[in-house]
Amino acid sequence: MVELAHFRNTVGGEHVESATGNWIESVNPYTGEPWAKVPHCNATDVDAAVDAAHNAFVKGPWATMAPTARGKLLHRLGDLIAREASKLAEIEVRDNGKLLAEMAGQTRYIPEWFYYFGGLADKIEGGVIPIDKPDLFTYTKREPLGVVAAITPWNSPLLLLTWKLAPALAAGNTIVIKPSEFTSCSTLALMDLFREAGFPDGVVNTVTGYGHEIGAALVEHPKVAKVAFTGGDATGARVYASAARHIKHVTLELGGKSPNIIFEDANLDDAVKGAISGIFAASGQTCIAGSRLLVQRSVYDEVSAKVVELARSARLGDPMSPHTQVGPITTLPQRHKVLDYINVAESEGAKCLLGGKIPEAPELARGWFVEPTIFGNVSNSMRIAREEVFGPVLSIIPFEDDEEAIEIANDTIFGLASGVWTSSIRRAIRMADRIRAGTVWVNTYRAVSFMAPFGGYKLSGIGRESGQDAIGEYLQTKCVWINLAEGVPNPFVMR
Ligand code: NAD
Repeated sequence: MVELAHFRNTVGGEHVESATGNWIESVNPYTGEPWAKVPHCNATDVDAAVDAAHNAFVKGPWATMAPTARGKLLHRLGDLIAREASKLAEIEVRDNGKLLAEMAGQTRYIPEWFYYFGGLADKIEGGVIPIDKPDLFTYTKREPLGVVAAITPWNSPLLLLTWKLAPALAAGNTIVIKPSEFTSCSTLALMDLFREAGFPDGVVNTVTGYGHEIGAALVEHPKVAKVAFTGGDATGARVYASAARHIKHVTLELGGKSPNIIFEDANLDDAVKGAISGIFAASGQTCIAGSRLLVQRSVYDEVSAKVVELARSARLGDPMSPHTQVGPITTLPQRHKVLDYINVAESEGAKCLLGGKIPEAPELARGWFVEPTIFGNVSNSMRIAREEVFGPVLSIIPFEDDEEAIEIANDTIFGLASGVWTSSIRRAIRMADRIRAGTVWVNTYRAVSFMAPFGGYKLSGIGRESGQDAIGEYLQTKCVWINLAEGVPNPFVMR
């Protein structure tokens, strides 16, 4: 029997197990075997983590630290993450099955968020208001919110956590992180680097366990000022409702059903590669998956054939291997969900052009794989075109002209991302203007940067991560009025 790696939470700078001493096993989706265990926490653990974060916010060195010093800590953390990039990447691959080829790039890139927001830490400025009333001096300050609960999903634990941590810490907040119960290990491994970087104890804390047990308790905790959540839209709605009852700040990064639109004037070979990267990278388990491929009818047959041909050549296999192009689905329940959607699509009359099954190759038998799957002639009213599958399943939808492309693209409850493939700059800009989504990529797909705001329209979420806007999501404005005159005027009227 293989010995499981042991990960503990960090609370108030200490490594801790759960109050009950119970554990959750983390299963490697490529082998189907447990490889690690993390504490199974309950509301008592949530209380301890929030108290540690609250204490660090109101007293101790973090509360009085100059923003420039905060920024330097973030820089140091970035350097340490760069040093540990390979190790963190391997942990995440074991935990969620993402390709090492992708994760190695991600963990090398993650430090940039800490450098960027570290640089912003001492540029959070208020203003002096040229107030319209005599004898008053009035200025604003931008202050942190307090304890931030950062709740993350299983598909990209470290990257999505970074999008919250870097601006929240730069703004001076303290944090309690609740990673997904399926993929907590890379987050817990990251915690040691905070101490090494010199962050005061209690500034960043973790609790691990199930969403309905500790996620909900964290959102409702009276000392949590803000919830920064990434996950599914149904959970997001529950989190939003619960946060509303307690008047908390919220950012929500939710799901998508993103249109990737290929026009007849596009470079079709590039567009086909963009279609593949939009849906089969990370086995389709990305919020930005271009799961609806809209193709102009004049090139529909040609593009469909090319997409099928390229997807058929994808190498499924061990996510640790540099040769693998498509890895397993991260969790067994998610594989069931993906297979259920494939059945639904077939029963609604979508034509399966590729895949649709669990692969038969014996070397893949232990892992939770689903073949890259493509449905042709999908109508946008089918469930496969309306609901987020979160797996390697592409729907190809024909359209006639720009008007119909926009109509179909926007006919969704979501609005996270989109792609447009065209050689006409006029068409590119017009489409970018009219698509109701937080991101539009033209002649590319799946690009992100620490500098570029990311977030959803409609049910894809509220608020923006990355870019200068993001730090504002973790600040509140205070207005200070100082009387420069002698005495107090008539106390019975508003001044
Ligand atoms: P999920 O909603 O099931 O879980 C997300 C997190 O919320 C987990 O940590 C979970 O334990 C926790 N949670 C569950 N119930 C909770 C509750 N009642 N209160 C508080 N927390 C609770 O999502 P998932 O299945 O882990 O991730 C997949 C989803 O995430 C997809 O819908 C995907 O589109 C979305 N996602 C969005 C983005 C984005 O940036 N917009 C990025 C990645 C993933």
